[in-house]
Amino acid sequence: MPLEAEAFSGESRDGGLATDSDRIVIVGAGQAGARAAEALRTAGHKGAITLVGDEPHLPYERPQLSKEVLLAPKGEVAFVKTAEAWHDLGVELCSGVRVAECDVERRTATLESGRTLIYDKLLLATGTSARRLPALETGQVPVRYLRTIDDAMALRTHLAPGAAVVLVGGGVIGLEVAAAAVAAGASATVIEAGHSLLVRALPTVASDFLLRRHRVAGVEFRFGVTVSSVEDGVLLLSDGARISASVVVVGVGADPHAGLAAQMGLAGEGGIEVDPFGRTSAEGVFAAGDITLQRCPRTSRWRRVETWANAQNQAIAVARTMAGVPTAYTDPTWFWSDQYDVNLQVVGELGVGDLVARGDVGADRFTLVALDEGIVRGAVTVNRRPDMAALRKLVASGVRVDRANIENPSFDLRKALA
Ligand code: FAD
Ligand code: NAP
Repeated sequence: MPLEAEAFSGESRDGGLATDSDRIVIVGAGQAGARAAEALRTAGHKGAITLVGDEPHLPYERPQLSKEVLLAPKGEVAFVKTAEAWHDLGVELCSGVRVAECDVERRTATLESGRTLIYDKLLLATGTSARRLPALETGQVPVRYLRTIDDAMALRTHLAPGAAVVLVGGGVIGLEVAAAAVAAGASATVIEAGHSLLVRALPTVASDFLLRRHRVAGVEFRFGVTVSSVEDGVLLLSDGARISASVVVVGVGADPHAGLAAQMGLAGEGGIEVDPFGRTSAEGVFAAGDITLQRCPRTSRWRRVETWANAQNQAIAVARTMAGVPTAYTDPTWFWSDQYDVNLQVVGELGVGDLVARGDVGADRFTLVALDEGIVRGAVTVNRRPDMAALRKLVASGVRVDRANIENPSFDLRKALA
């Protein structure tokens, strides 16, 4: 049953007030799980916190995996905290172990190791994994995905001078890895099923700009095709073409880790429906990060928001609510991507109202603003970071702005907020 975003009083649904001695179990030690654990303490929660993650590493953030970790000579990963710092924060970190089962009636979480944890409140932050293409995994050509530290380290070794890197999917993974491959001296070919890049996230002008930038760097593109199979060590495309590859990197989207929640009766295939406080339909069970389905306030459609900012800020809001400080999460969607010398940022919704250009869209610095009767609904910036800082606030505030000011690239958008 869909959750409604009614006012939340800080009382749990069975009438019991949130207490600072609640035992909290967090499933998933990715960005959302880790930031929630920190935020629980910041919000004053004094009870036990157990953070369980199935990866054999300390919690880390993923954006570095397709950027610094591939590009830097040693490719070291920055962790959220040291093991000692987690200990000092009073967070019991259980790494390398999966939560196999949760019982919503008895309020228990059972680990694969057999240990059973009792909780008063549970946070599901199980995230997503890279969608696989098993038809390519024949062993003839190495096939790599990019979601974890281990994936990034395995991929790094393939990005070398002379390598022929084929990217399946012209989304953020495909494009960021193509840029890293070229920087490493490899060739890169992107196979994209659609007819333009990042088609769901970007307007055509910005998508075409990225395509031009990649072509200048030497990346080749095949649009409107997929890889059908691997034959004699060569990739066979759906249009009959054949291409050689020393490694294939698949970036065709993400699938939610929804098995545990489904077993609890909470999730469909797309993820876990939550209200703005992160509450699920089960008493005492919350969810945050990529795994959640949030209702778009304008269209009322449920959607996953797979971004760093969501994993950070939704998790913090949900943790505060769990700690008894009810906090709704209503931020507009925002993400960035770095490719070569291009910093691309996207906020809000772009398919609403008129798309107003700011700066020369034929050049390498410009902004596009979705202006709907004077209200900024969304924006894209290419190498114009200060614009985005103001535009994020404008989208969130809903204040009316003058179109002429948007169109004038020298106008400081911060003044529109005043
Ligand atoms: P995840 O990071 O997926 O973490 C969930 C964790 O839970 C995983 O470790 C998983 O193994 C674990 N888990 C699942 N089930 C269980 C279980 N039953 N028991 C125990 N543990 C379990 N966003 C941007 O905005 N900008 C970027 O530049 C950007 N770059 C990115 C680059 C890469 C390579 C990737 C993969 C993502 C990038 N993102 C970026 C997206 C961003 O990293 C994600 O939105 C964010 O990681 C989501 O965090 P999460 O904690 O919700 O999920
Ligand atoms: P993505 O951005 O959804 O892009 C996947 C692309 O692959 C889409 O263009 C898709 O086309 C295409 N595609 C799908 N199936 C295909 C096939 N069989 N052959 C060829 N193309 C195919 O997904 P992603 O790049 O894999 O990213 C995965 C996750 O990592 C997401 O959660 C993303 O947010 C995260 N990530 C984010 C960043 C960032 O924000 N900078 C960077 C890296 C990773 P259709 O759209 O037509 O399906």
